[in-house]
Order: sequence, then C-alpha cells, then structure tokens
Amino acid sequence: MDLPSCLPPTFVYGDCLETWELIGSGGFGQIHKAKHKKWGLDVAIKLLLYNDGTDCLLREADLMRHGGNPNVLRILGVYKSQAQGDSSAIQVGLVMEYMERGSLEDLQEALKGPPPWPLAFRIINQIALGMNFLHQLNPPILHLDLKPSNVLLDDSLNAKLTDFGLAKIAKSSSKVIEEKDEEVAGTTSYMPPEAFLPSSYVPNFSCDVYSYGILLWSVITGRQPYPSARISSFLRFRVREGDRPDLTSLDSSQADGLSSVTDLMKCCWDSDPKKRPKFIDCIEVTKNVYELHRQHVPDAVHTILKQLDNKDKSSSSSAPLSWKSQTKNVGLKQHTEPTMATPMT
Ligand code: ATP
Repeated sequence: MDLPSCLPPTFVYGDCLETWELIGSGGFGQIHKAKHKKWGLDVAIKLLLYNDGTDCLLREADLMRHGGNPNVLRILGVYKSQAQGDSSAIQVGLVMEYMERGSLEDLQEALKGPPPWPLAFRIINQIALGMNFLHQLNPPILHLDLKPSNVLLDDSLNAKLTDFGLAKIAKSSSKVIEEKDEEVAGTTSYMPPEAFLPSSYVPNFSCDVYSYGILLWSVITGRQPYPSARISSFLRFRVREGDRPDLTSLDSSQADGLSSVTDLMKCCWDSDPKKRPKFIDCIEVTKNVYELHRQHVPDAVHTILKQLDNKDKSSSSSAPLSWKSQTKNVGLKQHTEPTMATPMT
C-alpha cells in the first residue's frame, strides 16, 4: 500500500531506532520511547496501523513539521516499517519530540492537586500560545481534543500541545469538516454544548476555546471536571442545560490575577459560541497574570521536580513520571522494535 504523496520526506525506519520502550497508549495507538541512533536523541513514536484514518493525521504531521512553535509538539518524521505477518500492511507512526515529564494529566495525578500558582499561570499561558499558533496557521488547525492528557511537559515543565488525531484542517473559518461521530469529537467533559446536537454541529475555533475554558478550570483547581457525572448522556444533558465546573472553591484572594483567570474561563465556556473570546484575547489575559508571578516560576518548577523525583525514588517502580502512563495504560516494557501496532478501530 502506498503512503500518501503529501507525507513529509523525513522517514524514520526501524533500524534508526534502538532501546524501544512502551510508555503509553491512547485511542490512536501505542506510544513508545526510543533512541534515534543518528540524531543521538530520545524520541517518542506514536504507532498507528496504516488505514484510511491515518491520512489526515499524517498530513497534519507534515504541517507541524514545517510550522514550529515552542508550545506545540514537534513532529520529527514519520516512522515506517513493514508489519510482520501481514505483507499488505505498513506500520506507520509519528516520530515526535520526547517529553520527559509526560502529560499534564500525569502531573495532576502525581500532585493530587494544582501546581503552585506561578507554574499554573505559566502553563495556561503556554497552552493559549500553542492554540493561537494552530488557529493562525494557513489553513488553520482545529485541535478538537484539548484536555490535560494532550498537554505534554518537558523537563522544565514547559507545556506543549499534542495529539492532533482529531484535528481538522479548516479550509476557512466558515468551512470546516463536519464531525459526525461524537465519540471521536473529544472527551465529553471538554466538549462544548453545541457538540451534543450532532445534526447541526460544525466544529469551529470557538469549540477549542470552550475546551480551553474547562482546561483552565482543571489546571487551576488540579481536578477533573464533573466528578459525579459518570454517565456521558447525563453529562451532555447537564452541560446543555448550562452546568459548568464548580467555581465555589476559587477564592480570588488566593492569588493575584486569579479573578481575571476565573472571568476568562467563564467567557470561554459561554453557551453562546459567538460570545467566546479568541485565543489572542486569552493570551492577553494569561500573559498579564503570568507576568505577575513570573519571578517565582523557577522556584515553583524546582519544588515540583524535586517532589516528583522523590516520588519516583520512593515508589517501587523505577519509572519516572513521564512513564507513568505505562502503568496506567499498558503493562509491559519492550526493548526491541515492536512487531505490530495496536490496530485502529
Ligand atoms: P487519546 O489519544 O485516546 O485521547 P491520550 O491522549 O491519553 O488518549 P496518547 O496521546 O496516545 O493518549 O498518549 C498516551 C500517553 O503517552 C500520554 O498521556 C503521555 O503520558 C505519553 N506520551 C504521549 N506522547 C508523548 C511524548 N511525545 N513524549 C512523552 N510521553 C508521551
């Protein structure tokens, strides 16, 4: 089977990579860490089983390869290998920057609460910067799956956006590709109310802004939204009725600028998509708040890294936080090239 011609030219073959380790697993395949022998650096590889669904993903890989932004994960190339046992299948994957500290979700689980204010304010500013970059591309990219597990953290806890598996490339702000299957339209808690009316739902920029509003709340509180709503249909009903995450625990006297962030999240998750701000406005607010706390960021990062490393040392597993998903999602380590990716469903 031929790969689409629009693929980026940087192919990474199996013999370029060594010391494979399975570090996570998501809806689109397994994530491995490996060392690139020629580049001399660790990379993350998201393995996908090549089929029609991967074309879109690989085109986005091409876009992301050309457009660099410090808060968007860089795609370094496309992994390609013949899947063993099936001569008609080509195993492909995205070769990405390896992010030492895993995802924001991993961090939230490890801390069992929010990060210190200066770090929280830097993270929300960096997410807004990354999202604004995607929306400003020509053609723009909608993320459509913005949530803590899709924000990755480097060794200094800087945030980068990942997982454009569900993103659609908008030809223009008024013409976007319709998403019919609500199950693949992002995690329910982060989905806007209009997404629960699939017949009239056309994803656009404001959908990502809504998700950002919920993500703001999650970063600031260190919690996952709607803990009591286990049933997706009930949650959809509640969100359409106007329910939003609980703001009562957010006391604006806790940190300078917190009230501006709270106001921003309320604007972002407005039921009326037209009333939601643009990411450029979100940058303005979050940058001002971040500036108020900027000088305390190095201390906050240092404290958290120490806390995480102590946790790693005291846990029975020797795996660092960045490998936490391994225990959450997958059960084994591999040290050789994998033979077959998880098939896409
Ligand atoms: P889904 O894609 O189904 O929404 P998800 O976002 O949790 O789920 P993945 O994007 O496949 O799934 O990532 C799974 C886990 O692998 C992440 O939570 C993170 O811990 C780890 N991971 C993903 N990409 C990288 C990377 N580039 N560097 C380091 N760890 C990564």
